[in-house]
Amino acid sequence: MQMKIIVVGCGPKGIAIQTKLQVLKKLHKKPISKLVIIDKKGIAANWGGDSGFTDGENRLCTLPDKDIGFPYSSIFGEQVNAEMFKYSWSSFLIDTNKYREWIERGKPQPLHKDWYEYLKWVWERTNTNTQFIKGDVTKIQIVPTNNIWNIKVKTDNGPRTVKGNSLVLTGPGKPIHTKLSPPEDENHLLPLIFDGKSYWEKKFYLDHIKNVFRHNAPSAKIGLLGTGETAATIIHSLLDELREFNFKIYCLSRHVSIFSRGENYFGNHFFSCPDDINKNWQDYSLKLRKEFIERTDRGVLSTNVLNIMNHSEKIEIIYLNDNWDVSIEGSKIKLQPDKNNSLKSIHLDCFVDATGFDPLIFINDQFDDETRNRLVNHIIQNEKYILQYYNSIKDAQRDLGLDPLILIKNILPLMIGKDLSVDGFYPKLYLPMIAGLSQGPGFPKLSALGLLSDRIFEPLIEK
Ligand SMILES: Cc1cc2nc3c(=O)[nH]c(=O)nc-3n(C[C@H](O)[C@H](O)[C@H](O)COP(=O)(O)OP(=O)(O)OC[C@H]3O[C@@H](n4cnc5c(N)ncnc54)[C@H](O)[C@@H]3O)c2cc1C
Repeated sequence: MQMKIIVVGCGPKGIAIQTKLQVLKKLHKKPISKLVIIDKKGIAANWGGDSGFTDGENRLCTLPDKDIGFPYSSIFGEQVNAEMFKYSWSSFLIDTNKYREWIERGKPQPLHKDWYEYLKWVWERTNTNTQFIKGDVTKIQIVPTNNIWNIKVKTDNGPRTVKGNSLVLTGPGKPIHTKLSPPEDENHLLPLIFDGKSYWEKKFYLDHIKNVFRHNAPSAKIGLLGTGETAATIIHSLLDELREFNFKIYCLSRHVSIFSRGENYFGNHFFSCPDDINKNWQDYSLKLRKEFIERTDRGVLSTNVLNIMNHSEKIEIIYLNDNWDVSIEGSKIKLQPDKNNSLKSIHLDCFVDATGFDPLIFINDQFDDETRNRLVNHIIQNEKYILQYYNSIKDAQRDLGLDPLILIKNILPLMIGKDLSVDGFYPKLYLPMIAGLSQGPGFPKLSALGLLSDRIFEPLIEK
């Protein structure tokens, strides 16, 4: 059967899938006939510093050795490991004559822009069998008559339609806006409101922040919502870029403190080999899996960022429960906590919502109504997953009555099967970005890209 997979997003995941396909084909295994990768910005765009998310100067948190082939224990055997290693971080450094230096400098974490160079290097060596389309995916639908994906793409040469049997959605998704959204008009900068993407989008913003701070010195105030890695990289950047100013960053936290994520072998192995230890990831209770992710991944900071924060007198952690309000007053942002918060109302010069990203963006925004309804109906028909989350179907119906998107948000992550697609849903829909709870915490991240591509292709290889 002709099998065509469409991947939306040409980041590490898309490139890892492409590389594994290339290697499998070389070794005469052919899981699919065609791979199409679509990206609106180009190759590895989220890492270079021109597309938001980073300025390229931040350091990767994960070890770079956790590259597109990691953990090099392929389901398809040793030959595949050896072939994949040709596209490893080490091979890239050897090829670009940087290996010795990297080792002798103590294997520093690369900057995002170095990681971007690595990803492009892999792409250039493995893309021979891929059709790449540079364009913005604007609509995703299923053609009911023949059960295939129909993807509408806006390109520089006009609209295009791409059809395929399976769809892989990648990328961190859309920044979350808890109560305030940054202004859409680029020329309308005041008040200064940013999110985890827009903060990085234009260096010009920084000049603007500097002007505001110069004007308000010495008491300029930044409110930063969130206490995870998104917040940490922004704090790091603010401390560096605004070092000449006196200002305060109020880190607004749901908790009374912030928590650290010191990595260790016992936790790390769940990211790269979720099924390799005495017990499979899925065999642990949902409560234990959630707890693991909360302690190691969500809303926790790496120890090197915490050290930087520890040494700065410009940072204050403020507990803020969920009952707060925010309003614009001229060029200021007024934060109004309720009476149970220790913080009284405060006027901020800058507000950053760094609470993270919503990976379900494509389903919420690009799926047409019929396709989204089809997914919702599929969830409703799978009571076993609903009852993992809710005490009863009645509770679930109450939520569903409010908003089907809540059902998608709560239940869909539990329905991701071993091959990282939605269990029982056809045409196949692969959602690695929400596979953490059901298949292993490394799949949404960079920690298991080799395993991710194995999992997708394994059932497709003709035995
Ligand atoms: C700057 C940054 C640093 C990070 N650091 C780490 C880290 O150190 N360790 C770790 O494990 N995780 C890290 N993460 C988490 C990260 O989300 C995932 O690890 C990463 O997203 C995996 O790569 P990806 O291929 O899924 O996504 P990405 O590399 O984000 O690629 C997604 C692509 O989708 C494209 N796209 C988006 N919308 C559309 C559309 N409508 N049409 C077409 N194309 C579209 C984008 O242009 C982008 O190129 C980081 C994320 C970012 C953004």
